[in-house]
Amino acid sequence: MAPKHSHFASVDEMVARLQPGYPVYCLRPHELERTARAYLDQFPGRVLYAVKCNPHIEVLKAFYRAGIRHFDTASLAEIALIRENFPHADCYFMHPVKARSAILSAHEVFSVDHYVIDHEAELEKLVDVTGGGDGQVCLVRLVTPQYDALFKLSEKFGTDAAGAVDLLRKVEKAGFQPGLAFHVGSQCRSPQAFRDAIALVGEVLVESGVPIHYLDVGGGFPVPYVDDEPEPLDAYIAAIREGVQAIKLRGDCVLMCEPGRGMVASGMSLVVQVQLRKEGAVYINDGVYHSLSETLTAGVKLPMRLIRPNRAIARETQPFSVYGPTCDCTDVLPYKVDLPADIREGDWIEVGQAGAYSNSMTTQFNGFFPETYVSVDDPPLLPETVRVAAAEGAA
Ligand SMILES: *Cc1c(COP(=O)(O)O)cnc(C)c1O
Repeated sequence: MAPKHSHFASVDEMVARLQPGYPVYCLRPHELERTARAYLDQFPGRVLYAVKCNPHIEVLKAFYRAGIRHFDTASLAEIALIRENFPHADCYFMHPVKARSAILSAHEVFSVDHYVIDHEAELEKLVDVTGGGDGQVCLVRLVTPQYDALFKLSEKFGTDAAGAVDLLRKVEKAGFQPGLAFHVGSQCRSPQAFRDAIALVGEVLVESGVPIHYLDVGGGFPVPYVDDEPEPLDAYIAAIREGVQAIKLRGDCVLMCEPGRGMVASGMSLVVQVQLRKEGAVYINDGVYHSLSETLTAGVKLPMRLIRPNRAIARETQPFSVYGPTCDCTDVLPYKVDLPADIREGDWIEVGQAGAYSNSMTTQFNGFFPETYVSVDDPPLLPETVRVAAAEGAA
């Protein structure tokens, strides 16, 4: 059964009522539905949500309500989560390295029929376990040219163009419907990355002579953070359309994308409490071992605002070191944050754009484990520059 959680009109109302001494994730179902619809409306193909980014059941339900019926899953646990909660949704096993036992269960228990590989040995596994292609789909993951993305996924997974040509032929021979997949890297700041990756797909197609049934352009769609304002989704969709128009695909080739961050980041914020203020430092109850790990691993800077119900807040700000709750000295945000100069113990901070790779990446280190979820009706907490631009655009 889905865990019960409370609904509040706003984050401020939640703070006033709960006065939480623990971190609270504030889901925005309306925003999640809005972003999902934006992808469904604009993307010229099938939209898969990448479950790893935020697998909370209320997130999945919001996406399902908006019309998402396909999910990019990378483990049996993710597959079970989707199939048990949404019997009419499809799972795609998009991890290029799978345990034989996981392939067997995916195939026999959950009827999964889309798989990704990037090596001949993985294709052999698939054939051994499932008995070979029988209307099933096997996508070959291609390494794409490097662009300005946060994570260089293409170092870990994917084969080069020559390898893809060879694998595509083997996939077709084994009786699978062949496809190609790539991932340009998370928070990809250049639409050109998609155009170039699709051009490379075109070269592989010409070289191999294998007409693919599926082209999966992956995730990587970026969102605005502090000091990081990529182009909007439209620019990426346009690049994908142009890329696809420039190559020869079968008329019935299914185009797919797998957004994670781009669809979920704005749909959840995080409320933390200040446990101690020292001169130029604040100690909060969440940190890099919990919801804020991407500040360290990816250098993202999340927008923040102070909450102090019914009391004035100083207008003047100053830069603070922000320490997390564990005893580890590395549990500190890797940059200083401008916060009101009179910030003090008991204040709360709302951290925006916290829907992606936050709750899904927490550890239980040192006995801290954020686990409280509420939903709110507020608009998302975006970086200030984005809020100002939006207000000017509306005026
Ligand atoms: C993580 C991942 C995604 C989602 O990536 P985002 O950058 O969050 O959009 C999509 N596809 C695959 C294969 C992934 O590993």
